[in-house]
Parts: sequence; structure tokens; C-alpha cells
Amino acid sequence: MPTSVYGIDHWGQGLVTVLDNGDVALTDPQVTDPIPVGLPGIVRDLKARGITTPILLRVESFLDYGLHRLNAAFASVIAQVGYQGAYRGVFPIKVNQQAEVVRRIVEVGQQYTFGLEAGSKPELIVALAQPLADDSLIICNGVKDDEFIRLAILSRKLGFSTVIVLESLKEFEIVRRVSEELGVKPLLGVRVKLTQTVTGKWEASSGDRSTFGLGTYQVVQLIDRLTETGYLDCLVLQHNHLGSQVPNVNDVRRTVTEACRFYSELRAMGVPLTYLDLGGGLGVDYTGEKRSTENSVNYSVEEYCSAIIETVAYAMDEAGEPHPNIVTESGRYVTALSSLLIFDVLDATIYDVPEKPMADPEDHHLVGDLLTVEDYLNVHRVQECFNDAVFYRDELRALFRRGQLDLRQMARAERAFLYTLSRISKLKREHGPTGELDDQLEKFVDYYHCNFSLFQSLPDVWAIDQLHPVIPLQRHDETPNRRAILTDITCDSDGKINHFVLEDGIHSALPVHDLIEGEDYYIGVFFVGAYQETLGDLHNMFGDANVVTISLQDGGFRIEHETEGDTIAEVMSYVEYDPQDCLAAFRKRVDRAVATGNVAAEERRIMITAYKDSLAGYTYFE
Ligand SMILES: *Cc1c(COP(=O)(O)O)cnc(C)c1O
Repeated sequence: MPTSVYGIDHWGQGLVTVLDNGDVALTDPQVTDPIPVGLPGIVRDLKARGITTPILLRVESFLDYGLHRLNAAFASVIAQVGYQGAYRGVFPIKVNQQAEVVRRIVEVGQQYTFGLEAGSKPELIVALAQPLADDSLIICNGVKDDEFIRLAILSRKLGFSTVIVLESLKEFEIVRRVSEELGVKPLLGVRVKLTQTVTGKWEASSGDRSTFGLGTYQVVQLIDRLTETGYLDCLVLQHNHLGSQVPNVNDVRRTVTEACRFYSELRAMGVPLTYLDLGGGLGVDYTGEKRSTENSVNYSVEEYCSAIIETVAYAMDEAGEPHPNIVTESGRYVTALSSLLIFDVLDATIYDVPEKPMADPEDHHLVGDLLTVEDYLNVHRVQECFNDAVFYRDELRALFRRGQLDLRQMARAERAFLYTLSRISKLKREHGPTGELDDQLEKFVDYYHCNFSLFQSLPDVWAIDQLHPVIPLQRHDETPNRRAILTDITCDSDGKINHFVLEDGIHSALPVHDLIEGEDYYIGVFFVGAYQETLGDLHNMFGDANVVTISLQDGGFRIEHETEGDTIAEVMSYVEYDPQDCLAAFRKRVDRAVATGNVAAEERRIMITAYKDSLAGYTYFE
């Protein structure tokens, strides 16, 4: 019987399922009667080809699905409501800058005239080199210099609808100068600051204290300036970005209503706006709770689209203005589901002691007392038993510190304590949660040491407590008998995952199975396609993981693309070491040892080879 402790049905969105053999599988949502593809099988297959874990697995089928679903949702609401504008989405490159991902979005997005959002000069340079459909929007946000603006204006002649979103009055003066110099008029947008705030992790990006955008006074100043200089007819887009992962759909309605007030006021002032750009914010339900919490959302993509289209239609009909074309910059939604991180468990530190330690005549009598706690353990006295066990242990530790217990005696005492705790935990597991004791017991769960770097591969888990579904990829036909925190291989105590989405809520330990000697145990972290890759850092010089892109087909998979992870030599050069210099220095050192007779000629070869092989190798455990 597949276990349901992990709540896969809640968060899996039909993309992740469990096979009868207990393997976790991926399902292509775009085909009827899809055959799920087992993940452990994929990993073993990749391993046979020399691609080892940790692996960032991109599932092209899921990326396509996100893009299709977003566009289909808008199209269907637009048809239902009889909305007169169009939907013209753009992908914000910062969310996943990887060439392969951007290329795919552009390719699949052509049929939707899907565009790109560039928040910097490098991103614009990337955007201009993509085969976007004619008239696709390129929205330029962020702080812009002369060069940025020059490229943006010139690109209009190439069939791009490149819109320069003004973030300040000063920026317009640069635009005007460059435009006059080139003799080409720009397409302009204005980023308007709304007073309404949205809840969630990015609350500060919204409301009138947001760092971006123009307030009412500056908007009016800008309009006057545009009129004065003859640029008013260039202003075609109003931009409002409310922050990312907006948890509550009613926040969308409220802010869109305010955005519409600006839009219709500006139209009434003679501004020829035709686009209303509502930025990012379309969230992903990472936990499957379907609630307005930080890692969940209380709406579907279809509801998000309805909220926007209906609100805008109503407001514009009221104001007697034509329906604008709607732009969103939905990055997280399009890419988050499309990749997962897979790593293997290297080792475990087990705190669970299932067997009663044998009494030893040398034991201190407190060890005996500790071992009798079990005799009065029952559902009503668990907390008392826990308190007693901790008391005896602390007394024994005090004796050890004073030299009254030797190391062997102390080791037996710690064993007796952990045994008692295991009995308490077992009883607790069987009889449900009781509050405080849970937190106390969670300090004694096992550690599973895993082959990945949190800082490189899951930076938001470290920085902003982002939750992703994390599950073992096999043995779901067995009841997981352990609880573990996952630690990574950096030497940093922050390098661990201790928040998990389970069937009945968020827990600080993950149910896992006993490791079996000689058998790989894989863990998958799902929905990591947005923001994670390029925010990662080189903590302890762990570099990029191997990246493999697959597409799902007929119960099997095809490798579309492969990028080998960083070698040690590559990571060294990122931080300005020259691997060849290092090798030379090492060789010199070895030769010196050979000269003094400390190292034999044969050993010299072994040493140099070991050093060289490591330079060329993966930064992770191989
Ligand atoms: C980050 C960002 C986005 C992307 O937001 P998502 O919530 O990931 O869709 C869109 N627009 C702007 C201006 C941004 O800064």
C-alpha cells in the first residue's frame, strides 16, 4: 500500500505520483492516459551514463505545461467574459536565467506572442538575441543607463515591441536625449506605485513605501513633462508589480482595482495607454494547503486570471474606457514546477536506540534509575517520563564532568538515555501529537547526511525559509520508520533542511526509511525551477550540480540536454585560483619530499595523479 504521509496528492498537482512498486513517478499532464515514469529508474539510467547525483532534473514537459496553462487560462476567461483586450505575457528572465530555459519558453511561447521582461542591461541583451515572434513585448524594468536605453529604442526597428518602463523622472530625460539623437521615438511605460499592499513574503514590494515606482505627484509631473516635450503619445503601458508569490486572490482584486483607477485617470488625461502590466505575483502552491499562507496560495491560475480580467473589465466599463491588453510577468508560475533536485543520502547519524542496553555491574545506580523510566511509561505519563529521563541524564553528565564517571560509563549512560527516548518517541508516534513534547523530541531525530549544498542548490530555503516538497523517491510501499533532518555536505550548521510539507501540515523532521547497505537512497526536492539556480553560492566551494533536461514520453524519457556540473578546477578559477599554478606548487612540494627521501618515486606518481584527478572531478561526493 503506498503511504500517504507525504501528502503527494495535495501538492503533486497530478505531476508527481507513486507507482505500485513504491517508486515516485512523474506524469506528463499534457497527454491523455499518461504512463508515469519512475524517478529512481531515471536516476539509475543517468548514473549508468555517468551522470551522478546531485542532479538538477529539468522536466521540459512541465515547463511547457506551465506556459500553456497560463496562456490557456487567460484565453478562456477572456472568451467567457467577452473581454476586448488580449493577454500578452512576458517571462521575467531573472526568475530562471538559464539559456536553455529561456530558449524553451521563447520557442513554445511563439504561438502566444509571449515576450520577455528584462530587469537589467545583460537581460535585455539576452532578450534581443531570442527568436521572439514579431510584435512580442520586451518589457524593460529596473535602472537604466544610456546604453540600455539606446538598445531598447533601436530594437523597435527589428520588430520587437520594446517598452521602456520609466522608474523615475530623471530616466525620462535620458530617454529623450537618446531618442532625439537616434531620431527614433520610444515606447514608454510608467511604473505606478499603488497604496494597497499585498500580504506574503514580499509585502514590502507593495504599497506606498515600496522602493519602486512613481507616486501620484510624480506621475502627474511625468505626464506634464511628456506633454511639454511631445512624448505623451509614446506612453502606452502602465506597470504595477506587487511582489512575488501573492498568497491571497483578494489582494489581487484590490490592487488591480486601484491599478485600474490610475489607468482610467491617465486615459482621461489623454495618455494613449493600451497595456496594463500587472507584473509578477502569480503564486505556486508549494505545500498543497490551498490557503493564503507564505508558501501556498488560495487560488488556481484560472482563478487568478478571472480575478484580473473581471476586475479590469468592470472598472473599464464603469469608466467608459476600452479594455486594455493585459500583461503579466509571471515567472515563478511558469518555471517553478519544472525542475527538481535529486540527491543521495551518504550516511546517517541515528539517535534511535531500539534495543535495551545490557546492564553492566560497573554502571552508576542512576543509569539503573534511567532504565526503569520505561516501566511506568504510558500515554498519560509521557511528559513526566521525558522529564525524568532528561533529569537523570543531566545528573550523569554532571558526574562525568566532575570525574566521577569514566568515559565508558558515560557512554553507557548516554545509550540508556537514547533508548528511553526511543521508547517515548515510539509511544508518541502511535498516539498522536501532544504539543510541547513534540518540539522537545524533535531535537533527537536522526540526521540523514545528504550529497548536496543547500547554499548552492536551495538558497531560498536557507535565506527566506522557502518550503519545497521534499520526499524520498523510493520505498513508498513501506512505512517509513524513522524521522530525520536532512543535512548537506557543507561545514555549516545552517546547511540543513528541517521544514517539511507532510500530509498533515509542516513538520521539522521528514519520515524516512532505514538505509540499506549497498542500496542508494534518493531524496527529491520538488518545484525548484524558480529563483534557485542563479541565487546559489559557492559555500565551501561546492559548485553547480549536474543539470539534465528530460522530456517525458510514453512511459519513458528522453534526454534533451545535459550540462555537467562544475569541476573543482572550475570552481577554483571562479575565486581566482589558477588550477595549473596550484598543481605546479603541489608538484614542487612533492618533489622536495622526494629529494629529502620522505616520498618514494612511486608515491610521487600516486600523489600527483590523485591531485590531478580531483581537479578534474565533481565538487560533490562521487
Ligand atoms: C521578480 C519580478 C517578477 C517575477 O515575479 P513572479 O512572482 O516570479 O512571477 C516580475 N516582475 C518584476 C518587476 C519583478 O521584479
